[in-house]
Amino acid sequence: MAVPKKKVSRSRRNMRRFASGNRLDVPTTVTCPSCHEPKRPHCVCACGFYNNKQVLNTRKVARQVKQAETN
Ligand SMILES: [Zn+2]
Repeated sequence: MAVPKKKVSRSRRNMRRFASGNRLDVPTTVTCPSCHEPKRPHCVCACGFYNNKQVLNTRKVARQVKQAETN
């Protein structure tokens, strides 16, 4: 099995991670077909839409989702 010769320092590790323009800080988003808001791919939107279907009851659930995000 191939083994790294030396431990990669925190500095070098971080330089590698941030090499291509802070991509870690920018999460991928897609546009919701229902409310046209940006959302994470493969996640239910705050409006309760997923896979072009209404899968959640809207307002109450949207509030709960927002609370969960802030906690
Ligand atoms: Zn939506």
